[in-house]
Amino acid sequence: MSRILMVASEATPFAKSGGLADVVGALPQALAQLGHEVAIVLPRYRSIKLDNAQRVWQNIGISLGWHTFTAEIYSVRHRDVTVYLVDIPPLFDRGGALYGHSDDHRRFAAFCHGALAVARFLFTPDILHLHDWQAALCASYLKTRYSLDPILRDLKLVFTIHNLEYNGRFGRSVWGDFQLPDYLFSPDFLEFYGDIAVMKGGIIFADAITTVSPRYAEEIQTPEFGFGLDGLLRSQVHKLRGILNGVDYSEWSPETDPRIAARYSASDLSGKALCKQDLLDHFQLPSENLQRPLLGIVTRFAAQKGIDIIQQVAWTLMYDDDVALAVLGAATPHTPDMRFEYFFEHLRSVFPDRVGIYRGFNNTLAHKIEAGADIFLMPSRFEPCGLNQMYSLRYGTIPVVRSTGGLENTVDGETGFKFWGYWPPDFLHAVRLALDEYRNRPEDWRKRMVTAMQRDFSWTASARQYTTLYHSL
Ligand code: ADP
Repeated sequence: MSRILMVASEATPFAKSGGLADVVGALPQALAQLGHEVAIVLPRYRSIKLDNAQRVWQNIGISLGWHTFTAEIYSVRHRDVTVYLVDIPPLFDRGGALYGHSDDHRRFAAFCHGALAVARFLFTPDILHLHDWQAALCASYLKTRYSLDPILRDLKLVFTIHNLEYNGRFGRSVWGDFQLPDYLFSPDFLEFYGDIAVMKGGIIFADAITTVSPRYAEEIQTPEFGFGLDGLLRSQVHKLRGILNGVDYSEWSPETDPRIAARYSASDLSGKALCKQDLLDHFQLPSENLQRPLLGIVTRFAAQKGIDIIQQVAWTLMYDDDVALAVLGAATPHTPDMRFEYFFEHLRSVFPDRVGIYRGFNNTLAHKIEAGADIFLMPSRFEPCGLNQMYSLRYGTIPVVRSTGGLENTVDGETGFKFWGYWPPDFLHAVRLALDEYRNRPEDWRKRMVTAMQRDFSWTASARQYTTLYHSL
């Protein structure tokens, strides 16, 4: 069994803006249950309370260019895992979103130093498992500043790409703030078209690279999905593999979910109608919508999520197909784009009796939509894994998805509806196939719901694959 230290910028229940948090919240627990010793390092954001935490290290000096910071480390036990919180108040004790601040490069460079201090003094792992660009600088520091460190030099590095679009790109003017050797500012290392992409360090220096679905592992090697890093990934293909994310069914199961109005299961679906009524009540939509197909959306409002093709078919669906719509969306912290939010507000103003929208982050409502909607829309332009479609399957809320990344790996013709081209008529056609079955062939629909609910995407299988990978290193 191994000692594994995960470094990430989000993990449930501490901080979350998307699926990364669900993964880093659940995977360590699943690994611990297989017998590994696992700890996580997170930044201590303002929203994370320290009530049950213990200060385990203080006065760690971090110098980055002209700036110096002092970090403290807190630890807290969460179920089977120890969580270390790197507390650097000038960088993380602030309002606003988790990312998107003008000094993000410095925030996460300092955080990575804190994480390496944990690896050195508090929890020396066999495997240092880094997630996404925010943790990627650990790899660059480890292979340069710490390359002779007797404790750190033998660690094996795993780097997981949750979303290649967010590659930690910064202008070359901030290079000095990283305090990395200058030879790393070259196209063979962190330079990226004249800028810096810190994710490149994770890709280049890791002993193994994973991404969150087998399909996405193939896609990111192509120019269409590679965000300029496909060539690099092709050159590293010998150490790249896709391991599908799992679902934390202790959080996401209609049999036990305390956040929804009624519990239900594949053998007794009756509670689902109550959940639909509850969702309509939440949005103050009239009960006549119980007779209509209710389409659900839970998303970051990011171009990635296919919001633009939803926009293009939404009017047709509302005018011609007599559907109701429940939307939960928050501006993505990486690149906020208000146009998507305004669009759904506009749609609601035209169809106030059939459209509900909540703008912001609301976990309880995410559960209510998964349970209360009939059909879940996820026409992503690309989707590294996607969790919402797996939650939808478990809640018997039939997903209509674009066949890309993890959506391709998790939804099939028996459990959902797929379309291929990123093209509104294809999406509309797939939604209409779903509506037709829902309205005209209720027995087939019911069978589809039951099949979907019985699909198993629990973490154990994924944690076993990570275990095999760790051992191979
Ligand atoms: P991504 O990580 O790209 O955002 P995923 O489907 O992998 O997409 O994961 C999204 C996770 O974030 C799910 O747990 C989903 O319920 C949650 N989520 C997304 N948007 C919201 C929101 N506005 N409010 C609450 N939860 C949200």
